[in-house]
Amino acid sequence: IATQAARSTPDIAARMDRTRVFGAPQALSGKLAVITGAGSGIGRETAFALAEQGCELVVADIDLTRADETSRQSKALGAQAAAYEVDVADVEAVTEFATRVRDRHGTPDLVVNNAGIGLAGGALAATDDQVDRLLDVNLRGVISGSRAFGRQMVERGIGGHIVNVASAAAFTPQRSLGLYAASKAGVLLFSESLRAELGEHRIGVSAICPGIVDTNIVGATPIAGLQADDEDAERRRLDGLYRRRGFTPDRVARVIVDAIVHNKAVVPVTPEAAIGYCIYRFAPWL
Ligand code: NAD
Repeated sequence: IATQAARSTPDIAARMDRTRVFGAPQALSGKLAVITGAGSGIGRETAFALAEQGCELVVADIDLTRADETSRQSKALGAQAAAYEVDVADVEAVTEFATRVRDRHGTPDLVVNNAGIGLAGGALAATDDQVDRLLDVNLRGVISGSRAFGRQMVERGIGGHIVNVASAAAFTPQRSLGLYAASKAGVLLFSESLRAELGEHRIGVSAICPGIVDTNIVGATPIAGLQADDEDAERRRLDGLYRRRGFTPDRVARVIVDAIVHNKAVVPVTPEAAIGYCIYRFAPWL
């Protein structure tokens, strides 16, 4: 299993150079962006992409050390950034976090509800605690973040954008990822519905649906129903697959920026996600 550093340390010097030489488009310049799960993978790269666009960042993660590192590297890209520790599964903590953000930084223009965890193995083999945690982080966390910051945006009255990170698993049945798929299908339909609800307030809502992305998520994913040795073997297999076939998280981050700039509703990121999406949207009877 690759380490955090090996997988997601960006080449900050190269990025700064690119920004200096070519100039960033900065379509989102001056906007305040909140990103959850920003200590790794897609969330961290989204922070960097938004920093390059000229956003001020609030980066949150259950792991403050990781969030701090994202904040430090975002500052190196020229952004204002602050790190917070939040467990998105804790509804009260999310509400308090949203209040602190508004009091210290103002109402955010952009919110990326990205924090998420995996759970592989059989749906029957998982423990009740594993199922609770999965749904609390992946689904409840997105709902809590959308509600807390959505209310602030509506109250302020000048619009905004909420991005929820779902998954290709939201519309493609997966034999050993049924519980994860259920959590992400909830995120997808919640986001599409919230988009309809908040449109009149000029608040856009996007659901991003990546397929396989090479991040730390596999290493952190419990695999239900296997003995330790088999679990190790299965994780090595998955890890190899993600490394071989995975998209890089910075590609997903660019898709997230594009979804905000062009106010896109549902964005399948990878080719298999695009096929799954077409079936989900246009041929649901298949
Ligand atoms: P990752 O493990 O690299 O990053 C996830 C981050 O979220 C970590 O920093 C972790 O500490 C944080 N986090 C976990 N639980 C949290 C909680 N309760 N509160 C706050 N922060 C928490 O994984 P990633 O691949 O970058 O995943 C980001 C999102 O993308 C997730 O929602 C995931 O389900 C989704 N996604 C990932 C893939 C993939 O193949 N990697 C595919 C589709 C969707």
